[in-house]
Amino acid sequence: MGSLKDDWKETGKDLGGAFKQLGKSIVKSGAVVVNKANDWAERDDAKEAARKEAEVEKAREEKAANTVICPNCGAEITDPEAVFCLKCGTKLAK
Ligand SMILES: [Zn+2]
Repeated sequence: MGSLKDDWKETGKDLGGAFKQLGKSIVKSGAVVVNKANDWAERDDAKEAARKEAEVEKAREEKAANTVICPNCGAEITDPEAVFCLKCGTKLAK
């Protein structure tokens, strides 16, 4: 996007004289466009990060849903097919 900004700068130079101020404002608005483009890019990054975070959170919830806590020793049994506690052998309530 740097080239766009440079193009606007050149335009401002060519105008010169009475149009100098106008050229400056064009350069300024060009810079604003560049900044906005950067904002959009960052927003996409944030969206992507939020999406990944949601995926991790979903996986964590699914794991938690499959995790059984042993009523006797409090061990976390992550095997959804487990019938007995792997630590103390207590039968797990389903
Ligand atoms: Zn146990």
